[in-house]
Amino acid sequence: MLELRADFLKEINEDILRRYISEAKNTGLKIIFTCRDPREGGKNNYTQQARLNALLHAVSMNVDYIDCEAVNFKNQLEHELKTALNKSQTRLILSAHDFHQQFDNLEMLYEEIITLYPEAVVKIVYTAEHINDCFAAFDLLRENPGSIIMCMGQAGQISRLICKKLGGLVSYMSLDEASASAPGQLTLQDAKSLYRWDSIDADTEFYGVIGDPVAHSMSPAIFNACFEHNGANSLYLPIHVQGESKDLSEFLENVSSRPWLGFRGFSVTIPHKTAALSYVRGKGEYIEPLAENIGALNTLKVGFGGIITGYNTDCEGAMRSLTSAMKIDRHGLHQKHVAVIGAGGVARAIVAGLADVGAHITIYNRTADKAKRLADVFKCKSAPLEALADMNAEVIINCTSLGMHPDTDSTPLPQRYIKKDMLVFDTIYNPLETRLLKEAKAAGAAVISGVEMFIYQAMAQHEIFTSAPADEKVMRQAVFNRLAAK
Ligand code: NAP
Repeated sequence: MLELRADFLKEINEDILRRYISEAKNTGLKIIFTCRDPREGGKNNYTQQARLNALLHAVSMNVDYIDCEAVNFKNQLEHELKTALNKSQTRLILSAHDFHQQFDNLEMLYEEIITLYPEAVVKIVYTAEHINDCFAAFDLLRENPGSIIMCMGQAGQISRLICKKLGGLVSYMSLDEASASAPGQLTLQDAKSLYRWDSIDADTEFYGVIGDPVAHSMSPAIFNACFEHNGANSLYLPIHVQGESKDLSEFLENVSSRPWLGFRGFSVTIPHKTAALSYVRGKGEYIEPLAENIGALNTLKVGFGGIITGYNTDCEGAMRSLTSAMKIDRHGLHQKHVAVIGAGGVARAIVAGLADVGAHITIYNRTADKAKRLADVFKCKSAPLEALADMNAEVIINCTSLGMHPDTDSTPLPQRYIKKDMLVFDTIYNPLETRLLKEAKAAGAAVISGVEMFIYQAMAQHEIFTSAPADEKVMRQAVFNRLAAK
């Protein structure tokens, strides 16, 4: 379908409208004709009479739908529009928009609108201030398939895709980012390629990455490429959960109490990894022992009846990166001397894996206390960053954010400390080759990019989500395409 937003035209008269609508009809697409009131997001300040005339003209040209604000229909336009519609095939969309927040009582609003004109398609669109505001829209749409109910804003973006599964008549996409007519609108290109719009149906299962921010995550690209390749009726979404652990808990409760939405699993990233663990623990559900040990989850699986279980694949991702680069199995890491730089979440996952195979680990961190606490848990050594000058390591792993985009000139390790018989693994994957890796290569050392860990942890997640192995080639290609496009 094409939506014609006549309120964006600089001028509206019969001639202009005739040409505008005829040209649109020549595409062969169905037409929604809208001349939006500025009080509900319209662009130019046309009078009520001018907008009514435009709608009547569109009806006379037999467009498929006209969209009129419910409040204007009720107060002024009902008689004339009804008379025109009675003699035509055109259907009426009666709409209500709130650009600031959720409507007070959605069910009541729906009833009020449908009572005005029972043949109408009801359209209710409001701004989600938080992703949790989307669930009321999902509930209402599920009860009233064939209507148009979705949320605006970044937090509402998933509703623009999920609405198709729930039987929404349409979602709105823009031709490009600059021509978006409402906040949070996806481009047609992203909806169709990245988010597999054409394949969404009532049976589609959803996955997603929970984080804040998530807009630039590569996970949707790699999972959706994999789902496409496997012909899976699944879609992976960016799930922007702002706030604290209570907001995450509310989101997970919303998901698990609505199995009909079809959410099956989540990747979890900053800042929700430890809150995810607390949530699953609080529910008394299964947590993989390694994840308990790490103290954070990066994977949630939504099982039968909405039960959510927890896993951590960061460790698996890092261990597989090391063993495949070194062409050894995990036991080959036994007694290897490893310097881990950083003592945050990723360092903890990697130290847990290395400690399990008996590597000799030293943790170096800016905040020495934090390094010591982590070292005490896994019975290894710790030291301040300055001690890197005297390190005796065969493998060095950067688990800090030093060198990550946009801070690409930074490095956690002066080049003079790198020797040619070392293996240097940077967990950062943006950029693909960090300053640390460039300098390590120049020093003749072997290197591993964080992209390896990213791919392997995602492959392990795919297997947890679907019980089927992921196609490494497809995931790799998707990551490189994405990074090359930046
Ligand atoms: P985190 O928990 O916030 O830990 C950050 C670590 O970086 C801490 O040790 C912190 O030291 C150190 N750090 C930050 N700024 C520093 C600075 N200016 N100077 C010295 N040290 C500094 O983060 P995380 O979750 O562990 O993630 C760390 C990195 O891992 C990320 O930047 C990301 O690139 C990478 N990562 C990779 C993958 C993958 O799949 N490849 C997955 C997740 C994350 P203090 O303790 O002193 O603050």
